[in-house]
Amino acid sequence: MIIIFENILDVFFPRNLKCIYCNKDIDENNKYSLCDECKTKISFIDGNVCKYCGRFIKDGNICLECEKNRYYFQSGISILEYNDISKKLILALKYNKKTYIAYYFAKMIYDKMVLNELTDFDIITYVPSSKKKRRKRGYNPSEIIAKYVSKFSNIPYEKLLIKEKDTVELKSLNRMQRKLTVKDSFKIKDTDSNIRKCLIIDDVFTTGSTINECSRVLYEEYACDITIATVYVGDIDK
Ligand SMILES: [Zn+2]
Ligand SMILES: [Zn+2]
Repeated sequence: MIIIFENILDVFFPRNLKCIYCNKDIDENNKYSLCDECKTKISFIDGNVCKYCGRFIKDGNICLECEKNRYYFQSGISILEYNDISKKLILALKYNKKTYIAYYFAKMIYDKMVLNELTDFDIITYVPSSKKKRRKRGYNPSEIIAKYVSKFSNIPYEKLLIKEKDTVELKSLNRMQRKLTVKDSFKIKDTDSNIRKCLIIDDVFTTGSTINECSRVLYEEYACDITIATVYVGDIDK
């Protein structure tokens, strides 16, 4: 299935020929398909980071946002700083059907997993979208990223959760409203897999309420260790 899917992508979007952001011609061996200029501007998260959301922090190991929360996952990584380029790439993947971007996001996540020695998982899964939303968009960006991370890492990939409630857009809500909105919106999908260590993938981490609700449901079913990986940590100013 994944092979067919990739071949289709290759036909439409030959890899590594153009920068995925500015469309400039680039070298064939370019790892993330970004030209030198965009690679500098995109700003990869580096240095001291929060152990839960993966955002850069000056010191300590938990950011101010995560200090306010109780999580069901033990740790997390994130790849890109929130800026114009990362935001536009995410939006292009989420709303503009530029699904080939997911391949490079997955590559960035996988490289960071290796760097942080975070490769010991039984299973990789993702934050599902509702049936209605998936049908409307035709795909779930997090699902595609998760499939590629599975391919790069050779860790099996499986859908473990179902989104039952079609929740309202969280964008305009504050932390508490987000928490209440996502509460009980996911349920477990039956599986034969033995789940002890699970990696959950999502595109954006904002307050963490959605991925934490997924973690809660998985933890309550399997009492497993959970790590999360997201492409970028968004800003919340509420
Ligand atoms: Zn570029
Ligand atoms: Zn944090």
